[in-house]
Amino acid sequence: MNAQELIQKHKLLECIQCGMCTGSCPVSRKANLNIRQYMREVAITGKLVVHPQNELWSCTTCSTCGVRCPKELSPFEFLIDIRSLAVEEGQIAPTMRDALESIFKNGNPWGRIRSKRSEWTQDLDIKHISQGAETLYFVGCTPAYDPRVQEIAKGLVRCFEKAKVDFGILGYEENCCGSEVYGMGEKGLFEFLVEENMKNFNKYNVKRVVTSCPHAFHAFKNRYGKTSFEVQHYTQLLANLIENERLTFSKKLNKKIIYHDPCFLGKQNGIYDEPRKVIESVPGVTLLEFDRSRERSLCCEGGGGRMWIDIPGERLSEIRVRDAVESGAEILTTACPFCLLTLEDAVKTTGLEGKIQVLDVVEVLSLVL
Ligand code: SF4
Ligand code: SF4
Repeated sequence: MNAQELIQKHKLLECIQCGMCTGSCPVSRKANLNIRQYMREVAITGKLVVHPQNELWSCTTCSTCGVRCPKELSPFEFLIDIRSLAVEEGQIAPTMRDALESIFKNGNPWGRIRSKRSEWTQDLDIKHISQGAETLYFVGCTPAYDPRVQEIAKGLVRCFEKAKVDFGILGYEENCCGSEVYGMGEKGLFEFLVEENMKNFNKYNVKRVVTSCPHAFHAFKNRYGKTSFEVQHYTQLLANLIENERLTFSKKLNKKIIYHDPCFLGKQNGIYDEPRKVIESVPGVTLLEFDRSRERSLCCEGGGGRMWIDIPGERLSEIRVRDAVESGAEILTTACPFCLLTLEDAVKTTGLEGKIQVLDVVEVLSLVL
């Protein structure tokens, strides 16, 4: 893609230089990322500019710049295209390259072999989608392999069983969804993953997919083009099951809980109410809110490939856990594997262990099932 094509595709000449994008960008100060300037340089000179690696890879694709832009432009989509050009020229951090290579070879970014993808199910009785099921539970790479995040998958299985959801999984046939591959700008690998995943979905005549992860949900909903299946994030399905009294709770949880909106669920897809409905349905719980919540929510820095590159400076997740402790919450909950990991890590790096517990929404439910 050349500069002229970028100018047209991203409507760069409609930019009024208001600076809302850079002003609202959570990493602009820390990483010196000036997204407005990136766009302006291309629009004015008609040429592509090489950017310092730390700036280019600092964007979390949180989409705040797009949400705030008064001209309805999507600065982060422009930046993803700029990343694609860098990737084509082989300019990518080695840790990100390793993650991409692992996805190509093993179907996951964590360097783990494909045959171990369903190891987390060994004590559970879960059917393969080939046996016929109304819903495909798309587990995702991190819930399948990371021992901490496997709790999300196991908790969801318990909820589905209790609510009698007819579901199956793909087991080792499941592949990375490609969300982060797209965000890192590796469009060729992303297209390959779309083909592979669609082959599986079509082979098993999948009509309904529920995901553990907002990133997979976002990819299937917005990046796969026209598909023949309907997709939900698990909080949407659980909110519905609770409303229809198919999922009920037998215990109480007298705790103050604060909810962190994952960017790929909230800002990217407007899903703010369902996770809150699920949390509020737990008997005894008091739901607290951050000052910066919903569309003003602060990113945890886990998206856009940032799980595989550290940018020096104070982490946004550290600000988030400090705010959570200050609110008086006992539990900080979220609904995304990446948010869970970054926030839990931030509790350790800020020395706030013992002051707050980080749990996924489904783990909160597991306490009262
Ligand atoms: S997507 Fe988020 S991190 Fe990236 S440029 Fe926009 S506001 Fe900044
Ligand atoms: S917010 Fe939109 S209009 Fe304003 S500088 Fe950024 S891209 Fe341009």
